[in-house]
Amino acid sequence: MLDITVINLEEENHTEDLLDGSLYHILLKKLPQSMLARYNRKVNEQSLTESVETLRDFVNSKAEYAKRANETIYGLSSAVTDNGKPKGKSYFVKSGSDRSSTVEKACRICNETHKVWNCEIFKSMKIEERWTNM
Ligand SMILES: [Zn+2]
Repeated sequence: MLDITVINLEEENHTEDLLDGSLYHILLKKLPQSMLARYNRKVNEQSLTESVETLRDFVNSKAEYAKRANETIYGLSSAVTDNGKPKGKSYFVKSGSDRSSTVEKACRICNETHKVWNCEIFKSMKIEERWTNM
């Protein structure tokens, strides 16, 4: 991104340098080593004319690639998060159901999962009724 700014700036202020190619070489020196290598390979492979224009197009296309790559990575990571969340949820649901399966059997009076002596219905019963329901 910085390189594009440099190229645009230099191009506007020193258009006369385009003719002798000194700007071109200055800009080449400003490129990261890996980018310079790719640029040289592209120039060779496509038999491009070495110029500020060619270099600018290359840097701009690289910037576009980087932008798309970021979008892809960003989109991918958010997709993973969306997929990951239900997975995490289902895991917790599973562990929760495992835990509830260890809870004592349903109340014999009302079928809720509490002990008979905690049952409001059982408590509200008369002693005789309790014995007949047990
Ligand atoms: Zn109950």
